[in-house]
Amino acid sequence: MITLKTSDELTVLRENSAVLATIVKALRNKINPGITTAHLDNIAAELIREQGARAAFKGYREFPATICTSINEEIVHGIPSTKRVLRDGDIISIDIGLIRNGLYADMAITVPVGKVSPQARKLILIARAALFQGINQVKIGNRVSDISHAIGHCIEEEGFYPVKEYVGHGIGRQLHEDPSIPNYGPPAQGEMLRPGMVLALEPMVKTDPLPVMVLPDGWTVVTATRGLSAHCEHMVAVTENGAEVLTEIELLPEEGSANELTRNEEVF
Ligand code: MG
Repeated sequence: MITLKTSDELTVLRENSAVLATIVKALRNKINPGITTAHLDNIAAELIREQGARAAFKGYREFPATICTSINEEIVHGIPSTKRVLRDGDIISIDIGLIRNGLYADMAITVPVGKVSPQARKLILIARAALFQGINQVKIGNRVSDISHAIGHCIEEEGFYPVKEYVGHGIGRQLHEDPSIPNYGPPAQGEMLRPGMVLALEPMVKTDPLPVMVLPDGWTVVTATRGLSAHCEHMVAVTENGAEVLTEIELLPEEGSANELTRNEEVF
């Protein structure tokens, strides 16, 4: 069942999302060759505490860390480690959630570490472009699967593959609420979008078409052939005027923007 948020709840969701976006920006600025994923996790934990919030993922189904750090072929749910050192040419996805005043926020970005390959850069840009294509479908009169279709189309058009095993979701007093929002599929299906819905859209993009695999740690999801993967996530509120992006974050120029939509090869 989809829960519509009250205006008081929306106020808190806005605040929490803004706090989270600020934390993500701070984390992004720490990403450099030579640091460990555990170091990023410690920084995230400290920043969340400073805001009077609590980490949403730690302890969720016994996940052991504050953030998920997924590098290269890792798609989602990578576990930070003191042994995992970022190297020049890696791409790292950071997924982070918090809860504050009873309401959740959830966000993810994929960031290049140093100088990355043209394919890695393109993958990051497509994940971001797919996210904004999905956001563009958040408007009254559309249905949930219009978002899914736009995301999947954007990814497949560029010769990549959407991850089908994991989905975007509603969010509010629960981290994962209805509706589920796949990153592919036909348009015009599922619930109508209504004001008061808050959705976490999160395209996951990969270079191979095979089903994903989970590593023996029970968490880390990887591509079957160990090809690259990228992931990004924004929270959006459905309003009478369309999407309100709650986790807005200033883009670094080299990360591209929604407007570039990667049609222009020069951006790579
Ligand atoms: Mg999420």
